[in-house]
Amino acid sequence: MAAQSTVATDFRLTDILRERVAAHPDQTAVSFDGATVSYRELDRRAGLAAAALADLGLGAGARVVFIGKNCPEFLELLLGAPRIGAVSVPLNIRLTEADLLALVEDADAGLVVLGPEFAALRPALGDRRVLVAGDGYEAWRDAPAAPLPSSVPDGSSPDDPVLQLYTSGTTGLPKGVLLAHRQFSALLLAAGHWSIDTGSTALVAMPLFHIGGVGYALVCLAAGARVVLVADIVPGALLDTMSDERVTNAFLVPAVLQMLVAVPGAAERDWSALRSIAYGASPITAGALRSVVETFRAPLFQVYGSTETTGAITQLDPDDHDPDGPRARLMRSAGRAYPWVELTVVDPATGEQLPAGAVGEVRIHSDQVTSGYWRRPEETAAALGDDGRLRTGDAGYFDEDGYLFLTDRIKDMIVTGAENVYPIEVESVLSEHPDVADVAVIGVPDERWGEAVKAVVVPREGATIDPDALLDWVRPLIAGYKRPRSVDVVDALPRNPSGKILKRELRSPYWAGVGR
Ligand code: ATP
Ligand code: MG
Repeated sequence: MAAQSTVATDFRLTDILRERVAAHPDQTAVSFDGATVSYRELDRRAGLAAAALADLGLGAGARVVFIGKNCPEFLELLLGAPRIGAVSVPLNIRLTEADLLALVEDADAGLVVLGPEFAALRPALGDRRVLVAGDGYEAWRDAPAAPLPSSVPDGSSPDDPVLQLYTSGTTGLPKGVLLAHRQFSALLLAAGHWSIDTGSTALVAMPLFHIGGVGYALVCLAAGARVVLVADIVPGALLDTMSDERVTNAFLVPAVLQMLVAVPGAAERDWSALRSIAYGASPITAGALRSVVETFRAPLFQVYGSTETTGAITQLDPDDHDPDGPRARLMRSAGRAYPWVELTVVDPATGEQLPAGAVGEVRIHSDQVTSGYWRRPEETAAALGDDGRLRTGDAGYFDEDGYLFLTDRIKDMIVTGAENVYPIEVESVLSEHPDVADVAVIGVPDERWGEAVKAVVVPREGATIDPDALLDWVRPLIAGYKRPRSVDVVDALPRNPSGKILKRELRSPYWAGVGR
């Protein structure tokens, strides 16, 4: 599929607020914690953030680390920093203190901005320049200088990074992905596909340190929507926010959707304001997707992408989400690539493009693809190769109509005997069992087959799961070699902040002393 280059190469992130202020300065840009900020005020505050950074002696290329929950101040920083050529580096607040400090080091932070809950980190940061935001993060509101205007410094290039975003660390250590103006100019084209416009009220509840949260927030602001920003995921409260604020659009990861649909009475609420719920960032099981369809009765669309692709590069449209319709099988698909994205499925060994139906590695060529990882030339070369096509590490295949079906991450694939088993397929079948609330399928060591398929399941509240009975139940539903050989029942699965099951962590006790 040839990519259509419709990306404006002269775009800069600073254009977002300049255009919005010109079009409708008094419209609400962000609602947070009962307060609202207009586009004009957001622009002024972003200018103050930039002035504060300049005042501290930061300039082009400086890294500004942000450690805090979602708040308007992070958006101010993100939109303000490019005015002096500085790069925002938001860190995952669920990391341990040691991991956070290692990433501050990795980023070579010129400044660390700490949210109030993280003030205790200050001593551990030694002589690094630190700004501790007070209550309400009044970090730069009383900056001594006047706000800087919404433009980039002279001589800036579309390839100057604006955001250094660490990967989720699902398969290894988090890597700092460099995202420049150019990557966002491509992502912003997605707004047209997400039915977001000036009339939208968009929920941004996913963390802004993850591409799902920050990418969605930027698309919504660029489209002139009102962003309802949420700091903590508390399922009942989040449903209240969605209905009280008459949210029209949202992006939520599958793990959060699963929590929302489990809230008693969720389906009985009035969801008539909803125009779209986007989901993605990790696989969703068939059982979870069905509950989401039944609960919200709203247009759903799936997106697939990664930090390295500035988020969404494929989309499964609402029309393809009818569980009882003729296209129901498409609900297992991640949809089709956007017109400006070239997506191929190749044999990872030879790089040769594979025909429809054949499973291989997903590779991406697009303006949305990063130029590389911060200070990791080897990993950059491994990810981008000679051809600049991103090796996603995801396995999948196309159908005849260009729909992408992700089978799983290559690293999570189970090789049992000579057969490849993709855990997500087995998880999807098990997720349909009425007593199963959550499930992960992994490979565990097996003398005869190399690896054997194991299911780790979490029972629904009040239910008990008998492993043998579950194995009997699944027998007629799935091919013999894919069938779990054993079932472990646990209270919860280890997940990272974007809701991804940490398969590495789950596998490790079984592989202790064996190695994988
Ligand atoms: P790391 O690269 O550090 O191991 P990570 O890959 O989980 O972590 P992200 O960039 O946040 O970090 O996630 C991208 C990955 O998320 C994709 O490569 C893919 O495996 C998974 N993913 C994203 N969207 C979807 C989707 N719609 N369906 C299935 N998997 C998805
Ligand atoms: Mg990755």
